[in-house]
Amino acid sequence: MMLTYPECAEKLKRARGRGKLANNTYLRKEQDGTFRIRLHDTDVVHVLPNGHYRLYTGGWRTLVTKNRINTYSPVHVAAYQGTWLVGSEADGWQHSWAFEEGMEVNSRGRPLDAARLKKRKAAAVCNRRAVNRRVREYVDGYCQWLLDLGHFPTAADCAGDCFYCRFVEENPHQANCGHLVAHMRERYYVGSILHRTLQERYEQHAGAAAGNIERALALGRTRRAKEELLRFFKRRKDRLVEAFKTEWPAGLKRKKRKRKRK
Ligand SMILES: [Zn+2]
Repeated sequence: MMLTYPECAEKLKRARGRGKLANNTYLRKEQDGTFRIRLHDTDVVHVLPNGHYRLYTGGWRTLVTKNRINTYSPVHVAAYQGTWLVGSEADGWQHSWAFEEGMEVNSRGRPLDAARLKKRKAAAVCNRRAVNRRVREYVDGYCQWLLDLGHFPTAADCAGDCFYCRFVEENPHQANCGHLVAHMRERYYVGSILHRTLQERYEQHAGAAAGNIERALALGRTRRAKEELLRFFKRRKDRLVEAFKTEWPAGLKRKKRKRKRK
């Protein structure tokens, strides 16, 4: 049930200025005549007098933000492989576009900048897929390296590791990922990455998790190691996609399919 401009006015009138819509979500009118739907500190949906809408997240691409945008505006936001895409029912779900901070859509949910956002969507989805593929390749290679090593990487195995991987602790979601992309390109399997991912997930219990992986390796099994490594890269996915663009643009290209000749 999206809110139209007249409905906003009606709602606010009935509520005598206190327009609570849902948890932490309020409707108010701005000096410039727009209605704003605020979630916490961000006006996530602006309802314009001409019937258009502007959409914002304030950097919070969360389920709740998505829910408020879907509820009060004419668009439907859905995450596809980690990318926010926008479509609309009024449009018959014919098209989808990349979500962009501050994007303006008409009353049927179609972006004013539709052509550009369509291209952005295609690029974002392609890049994401390519990065997922590179991550899987790297993790498979890493697991083979672990099997060849025959044990969980020890301090001695990690002594010569990449400085970043070994020593620099960062918030994964804001991490510097350029070196990781370089490791993928060079198929350089850094023992410290396995230590780091366990550290991030299990903290003081990382040792026990390492023990489990060690025992599995002795039996020739790498499933646990693989899962933990994939998690390491998943936490960094957005940053990785960005880092690929400068560090290894060719890594984002689609592999050429070999054509069968008759
Ligand atoms: Zn590194």
